[in-house]
Amino acid sequence: MSSTLRILPLGGLGEIGKNMTVVEQDGRIVVVDVGLRFPTPEMVGIDLVLPDFSYLRERAKDIEAIVVTHGHEDHLGALPWVLRELGAEGHLPPVYGGALTIAMARSKLDEHKLRDVSLNEVAITDTLELGPFSLELVHMTHSIPDSSAVALGTERGTVLITGDYKFDQTPVDGAPADVSRLAELGREGVLLLCGDSTNVDRPGFSPSESVVGPHLEEVFARCEGRIVVTSFASNIHRVQQVVDAAAALDRKVVLVGRSMRKNVGIGRTLGHIEVPDGLLVGPREIEDFPDERMVIISTGSQGEPLSALRRMAYRDHRQVQLRQGDTVVFSATPIPGNERAVNETIDRLYHIGCDVITTSDAPVHASGHGYAEEVKLMLNLTKPRYVMPFHGDFKRLRLHAQLAEAVGMAPEDIFQGENGLPLEINERGARFGKPEQAGMIFVDGVEIGDMADVALRDRRMLSADGIFIVVVTIAEQDGRSVVDPEVIFRGVPFLDQADELSDEIRATVDASLQRAAKEELREVDLLQQMLHDDLAKLVYDRLKRRPMVLPVVVEV
Ligand SMILES: [Zn+2]
Ligand SMILES: [Zn+2]
Repeated sequence: MSSTLRILPLGGLGEIGKNMTVVEQDGRIVVVDVGLRFPTPEMVGIDLVLPDFSYLRERAKDIEAIVVTHGHEDHLGALPWVLRELGAEGHLPPVYGGALTIAMARSKLDEHKLRDVSLNEVAITDTLELGPFSLELVHMTHSIPDSSAVALGTERGTVLITGDYKFDQTPVDGAPADVSRLAELGREGVLLLCGDSTNVDRPGFSPSESVVGPHLEEVFARCEGRIVVTSFASNIHRVQQVVDAAAALDRKVVLVGRSMRKNVGIGRTLGHIEVPDGLLVGPREIEDFPDERMVIISTGSQGEPLSALRRMAYRDHRQVQLRQGDTVVFSATPIPGNERAVNETIDRLYHIGCDVITTSDAPVHASGHGYAEEVKLMLNLTKPRYVMPFHGDFKRLRLHAQLAEAVGMAPEDIFQGENGLPLEINERGARFGKPEQAGMIFVDGVEIGDMADVALRDRRMLSADGIFIVVVTIAEQDGRSVVDPEVIFRGVPFLDQADELSDEIRATVDASLQRAAKEELREVDLLQQMLHDDLAKLVYDRLKRRPMVLPVVVEV
């Protein structure tokens, strides 16, 4: 047999985010994870970053399946875009994953109106045949339920992609990682292990998720006013622990933020979260209860611009007006790149007079990724022939390689890869092959772009499509537009349509302002962002061009 097994990472190496790996044998492909990354502050006007998946577009007809390890955005978030593009090539591959992962995929695809996709729940006991591959999911613990490692059986041996994991011995749902299955796979022979490197730089073992609950309760017990806890909406076990701590101290719970309500809804349906009757109250009822009886669970732990917490911090939230005496608990740490936005949010909270508790004040968070000893445990359990560290910047990939050496692997069996570099394994052994196209693609609204550099992108937008400046003057008291918006454009092609377009722009500005008034959105930055998104969409609809759109809001 001369066929070569290829493992091609298209994202997730040399970075934390947008995980995507192509496993290829006999011309057939299984894709493991389809993740995205959130833009850095310099990526002005960019909503999301996806891996460049041109390779898959060209090979659309060869894809047997997409397998998703768990429901986090950096593993699942690109699914709608990838499926839309592959569907356009006429090949819509089926998607496989655990029950919660599939439920989250379904909700995402519904939002994108992608309804003809075959979504398949895989039980932990299943072994599926996908063309020349066999597929098995191995239960792992992580900061979202239904996380699994993916074991792909191939003619050359088993490829084990761990997904994100920690070895939590006391997980909140009582289901630790399936170490016996991992060991069994190791005995049967793992050809290649592709493992999570996120926390390889932390010595020892990660603390269990279940230690967070008692600490939250301790913190809550000291609070006299309202408590706002912010965490990832997908961290369903964390939400459970906040609910339990609130119940223990006789406080009611309010869920704030769309994704928080959505995920808790999905989690309750699947039995991952239990809420005592009468504990949850609606956001409108917040003021009906005394401050010391209230816990608000909110999105926004990463300082995301339009998130609930950020809006509360800017006194811009419809239902929650924070005040002196309230305590905000950050039950999460910032993902690298989000520190600035988080710090800004925290400072705004202090300005209002809130107390803020972060992980540096109390152990109110536990990472979902195993530390160095857990990475070694994974290596020792599975005893792989080859290792390729995944899910980390280059420093962490290197540290992971050093851990593999520390447990006795030969340096030549450890492959420190990068996005686009395929590892090829045949009867002669394993080596890196010729690089394939990889990188980032940007999503601006719902459209995909491919320019690699934002400054360059801005200049290109200016030179190719010109600029629209829309000056909106609003009254400070009520946010209403006081004079007609002023529309200025320079260098925009199709100027013959300009008059008509100016009218439409004014109408769009009015509609946006009305929407903002209805949502009581008053902060100028947020207003400008909303105007930008609405106007950019209008201009693109009409001109099929992307001039730079600069809304300027002036308060008088
Ligand atoms: Zn991840
Ligand atoms: Zn994850």
